[in-house]
Amino acid sequence: MRLDKFLAETGMGSRKEAKQLLKKKLVTVNDQVVKDGKIQIDEKKDIVKFAGEELTYQKYYYYMLHKPQGVISATEDKWDQTVVDLLRDEDYREDLFPVGRLDKDTEGLLLLTNDGQLAHQLLSPKKHVDKEYVATVQGIVTDQDILQFAAGFALTNKELVKSSELMIDAINEEEEQSEIRLIIQEGKFHQVKRMFEAVDKKVIYLKRLRMGNLWLDEELELGEYRALTEKEIEGLK
Ligand code: URA
Repeated sequence: MRLDKFLAETGMGSRKEAKQLLKKKLVTVNDQVVKDGKIQIDEKKDIVKFAGEELTYQKYYYYMLHKPQGVISATEDKWDQTVVDLLRDEDYREDLFPVGRLDKDTEGLLLLTNDGQLAHQLLSPKKHVDKEYVATVQGIVTDQDILQFAAGFALTNKELVKSSELMIDAINEEEEQSEIRLIIQEGKFHQVKRMFEAVDKKVIYLKRLRMGNLWLDEELELGEYRALTEKEIEGLK
């Protein structure tokens, strides 16, 4: 990669600012002062220093995956295909991992990154990041359920869940099914399914649409992924 790009991506400012640093002879590559930002360096081997301090290159990657059913939210598995397997092409990086989990039979938005700090922020219960789902539920969801979800309540194992926003999109009286939308801020194991189980209903289809400010790109077919835009990455921080 070009030295000026390397400097910009290790937080030394824009490429223009990097050029100024080079001009001031503050940058060395393998202990040789370098003034030309256009030279190519090997970011894995060459030692680049700024004012005598070594710069370490860690570039972060962010992808959204439209997770299909049948794939597990893990980096590797003996038996099943994983969400990371779906990204194994020219972009493949060994250090990518999924931010949180969707069940094997859940579809929708899954963020994959190698940025541990961002993952921690998004998953921390203290940060109250919205997770928005759509679901088909066996049973007729009622206004009483909406009130109960809004108040917070105990699951069947007495575990407490905090307030969430439940909305009814459609009711199919004949099939006794409800199409719903749910926004939760926690991320307990099988949380959505267990919340409906607690009100005597069963989730038969579940899809995540949003995490914080990040919406699933509906242009992505099931199993497809794309890199996040700069704006989307900023929106998550
Ligand atoms: N809640 C669930 O029950 N399953 C998921 O995959 C995500 C949230």
